[in-house]
Amino acid sequence: MLQPPPAEPGMREEEVDTPALILDLDAFEANLDAMAGYLAPTGTRLRAHAKTHKSPVVALQQIRRGAVGQCVQKVAEAEALAWGGVPDILVSNEVVAPRKLARLCALSRISRVALCADHYEAVTLAEQAAEAAGLRLSVLVEIDVGAGRCGVAPGPEAVALASRIAGSPHLRFGGLQAYHGSAQHIRASEGRAAAISRAVEQTRRTVEQLRQQGLSCEIVGGAGTGTFPLEAASGVYNEIQAGSYAFMDADYAANEAAPPFRHALFVLAQVMSVPRPELAVVDAGHKALPTDSGFARPWQRPGLAYVGASDEHGTLRVAGGAAPKLGEKLRLVPGHCDPTIDRYDWFVGVRQGRVECLWPILARGMMQ
Ligand code: PLP
Ligand code: MN
Repeated sequence: MLQPPPAEPGMREEEVDTPALILDLDAFEANLDAMAGYLAPTGTRLRAHAKTHKSPVVALQQIRRGAVGQCVQKVAEAEALAWGGVPDILVSNEVVAPRKLARLCALSRISRVALCADHYEAVTLAEQAAEAAGLRLSVLVEIDVGAGRCGVAPGPEAVALASRIAGSPHLRFGGLQAYHGSAQHIRASEGRAAAISRAVEQTRRTVEQLRQQGLSCEIVGGAGTGTFPLEAASGVYNEIQAGSYAFMDADYAANEAAPPFRHALFVLAQVMSVPRPELAVVDAGHKALPTDSGFARPWQRPGLAYVGASDEHGTLRVAGGAAPKLGEKLRLVPGHCDPTIDRYDWFVGVRQGRVECLWPILARGMMQ
């Protein structure tokens, strides 16, 4: 159940009830255009990750600018997108629960759907679900290219699993999932480049070995906001799965040679207490602003630093006469955009200080 929206179109930003999730529409649209412009000459396709935005409204804007579809991590996210009209969805993740697989099969009657597998038993479970539903389900093999998360080893192990999929009358081999998660926030550009160059070589070798077995990869997918120019230039990857690029956050901004996107996402918070000259307290603590990737940054307020969070309080250190007034509303740049968006029911779209639109975050909290 969605909460009532914290604002109405036409309001000034200062009138929005807090804490609220503000989307700066000029910056957001510029980010979508920048990614489309960046990828066009590389020949790679964008399959943007919806675990970041959790909203068919955002997905359809990415698709309108050329994205071929969306990635999701969860079956419930796939449902929210498909019901909202997204025609092509990859679950870039493993699904092994029979009920979830049955839901995914049901969904594939209205949208193109694929999922990943990294184990024979997982393939058998997907096969049983597809057979029961009377359809052919597309399955990608996930390889571990350095992240140490899911995935079989690149090379022969991946080829064997792909052959098992391709040999099933109920499945279709869809390609490779080769995402290197831990490379995204390596601060030094050289370190990121080295990690992705190893991932590219492992992926290249696997694609070649598959080809020798007569198996072609419709999708070779991976890449996030921190590394996508490298995968896009590799000649091996053909789909880019970046998600955060549309919004940006403080963690990505801290990368050396940070990705060329604007901060479009803010939590608007209100100063509810100014107990001492060097201290101000806002109504956005770590329930409103997850701190897994560090604290939020006050936006364009030199002298203010967000230095502490409890459930519903954020403490700001005030230096250099920058004290905010009691009741003032401040924009804060979240440390990590994905879990922040997941705390809110609405994007409050703002252009030049005025609320222009409210978009529901329909898959918010959907983790099944
Ligand atoms: N693809 C997969 C499978 C992911 O898990 C992620 C993020 O963790 C991404 C892509 C990229 O996301 P982002 O661009 O937000 O870093
Ligand atoms: Mn993230």
